[in-house]
Amino acid sequence: MDPIPISTVALPEGTEELVLSVLRSGRLAQGPMVAELEELMAALCGVEHAVAVSNGTVSLVAALEALGIGPGDEVVTSPFTFVATLNAILERGARVRFADIDPDDFCVDPDAVADAIGPDTAALLPVHLYGQPARMEVLSPMAERHGLTLVEDAAQAHGARIGDRPVGSYGVGSFSFYATKNIACGEGGMVTTSDAEVADRLRLLRNQGMRARYRYEVPGHNFRMTELQAAVGIPQLRRIAETDAARSANAATLTEGLAGIDGLVTPSVRPGVHHVWHQYTIRVTDAARCTRDEVAEGLDERGIGCGVYYPGVVDDHDCYRDHPLVAAADVPVARRVATEVLSLPVHPGLGPSELERIVGGVREVLGA
Ligand SMILES: *Cc1c(COP(=O)(O)O)cnc(C)c1O
Repeated sequence: MDPIPISTVALPEGTEELVLSVLRSGRLAQGPMVAELEELMAALCGVEHAVAVSNGTVSLVAALEALGIGPGDEVVTSPFTFVATLNAILERGARVRFADIDPDDFCVDPDAVADAIGPDTAALLPVHLYGQPARMEVLSPMAERHGLTLVEDAAQAHGARIGDRPVGSYGVGSFSFYATKNIACGEGGMVTTSDAEVADRLRLLRNQGMRARYRYEVPGHNFRMTELQAAVGIPQLRRIAETDAARSANAATLTEGLAGIDGLVTPSVRPGVHHVWHQYTIRVTDAARCTRDEVAEGLDERGIGCGVYYPGVVDDHDCYRDHPLVAAADVPVARRVATEVLSLPVHPGLGPSELERIVGGVREVLGA
């Protein structure tokens, strides 16, 4: 039996033709394809502006810079995230403070965020982990009350919603098109906003601070995306409803199949929330008959891909330990959850027999 990968890149029909058209056009740098990708993302997020950049880390940096976040500012974020969230804040020279997470949705706990807000706090940076929106309906008014800017790390959450409201529309949104994300261009990023001034600053920062040819308004960067990257993403974005539905159906099948196993907690979806299942993440708790790592090993032996996202809190590495800009985190929930999480394949490439194998494999390893 073929191994089941934890993620795949599925390129819809028409992708090769579109990429080939770019190659033949002679225009490889940012142009009409990038503009079309931006329009599709603005529509998906229900915002006025989407600004494409070279990757998701850069989109976080650009969002923070466009909002004026820098040295002297503190940013409150999740300790349970990919390291890019942390690195982007440090890249801006801002300080990082962590707020613990809710074990049910893996995102920051709004009460912990409220406790973390101090006199130097300038921004909140929640992460929509695994494709489920953080509690923006609480965090957004909280940011407003305290006069804080709000950046959403939506790298894993293209198209996720709370009610009818898409992520990336609450604050300034930041997306990634890295090869394993729900929309994959190889590399790529997008910043979303309905604030015309922020969008204008983002476009300047992206292109060396240049307003018109060789007229520089601010010291800028090269954050541009290529036409080739955009051409890979456009067909996927046009069909995101289909792949999104497939991920949801796969998640429902897994949750049904994995019900009632001692010590295994299937992922919960907050009521009224649309989860886009970038990852399907179970928790293997103390009550299970073996550890999370033993489950991972057992699945590996059976050719079932799985992953631990993430094996620890984000700053638990020597390079951050005594970092002057990183406040040591008192985040017991995130620390415990990091020992329990295991992500199973949920991507649209799975068929019924693969889903059955995943469920059967997990049941076998856990003796259920
Ligand atoms: C992938 C990811 C990023 C960074 O995106 P890149 O395109 O890899 O730079 C940032 N935050 C989170 C939560 C991610 O998963």
